[in-house]
Amino acid sequence: MHKTIKQLITLQSLDNKLKAINDKLGDLPETVKTLKYQIKEKQKENKKNSETIIENKTLIRKNEAKIEDNNAQTKKFQEQLYLVTTNREYDAITAEIDFSKKATSTAEDEILMAEENNEELKEKIKTIEINIEKTKEELKNAKKDLEQTINSTEKEKQKLEAEREKITKLIPKKYYNIYKRIYNARNGLAVVPINRDACGGCNSRIIPQKRVEIYKGGKIFVCDVCNRFLYAKNAVNDEHK
Ligand SMILES: [Zn+2]
Repeated sequence: MHKTIKQLITLQSLDNKLKAINDKLGDLPETVKTLKYQIKEKQKENKKNSETIIENKTLIRKNEAKIEDNNAQTKKFQEQLYLVTTNREYDAITAEIDFSKKATSTAEDEILMAEENNEELKEKIKTIEINIEKTKEELKNAKKDLEQTINSTEKEKQKLEAEREKITKLIPKKYYNIYKRIYNARNGLAVVPINRDACGGCNSRIIPQKRVEIYKGGKIFVCDVCNRFLYAKNAVNDEHK
């Protein structure tokens, strides 16, 4: 078998082992990131809820003051009613009283609404806080899992990376670049054995003349259809015998 092909097979095996280690980490890095983001968003939401509660309290106080003023006004008008002498005066003061009462009623409605809203917000804050605690617990676990997985695979990863570096240096750059491109494009399969009379990657038929050449192992061949490097399985087996 061609020396470069043999090296590419080794490289592919190393790359697949490294990929498996990365896969082992799986969603964990992404999970940790997502959980952190979720906690931050929920904290932001609760901060906003707390601010709204304070705004509502201010609104309640303002309306309470308004009601007090209105009541004083109404009382004053009612006293004046006893002193009126004309219908016109009477009507004018009655209108003032009605106006004042309506304003009080509006202020009372606003207080009620703000109070109800605050009750809802307090409940919401509680629910979100429980949620934050739960998410924090999840984050702690995910972080622990991630750390453990990294710790358990780090040594193996370093060994594989060292081997990879060594073999990469031996492979002519031109072939290495083709390999890289195909490996990434073809889901980690850039060097394939021929399967009977076809490419082991895409199953396209390989002409007999080319097959013979591949078996001889003197030159480097790629599949005409998928561009993967081709080798003869038996040739590998022979080497290992
Ligand atoms: Zn192919």
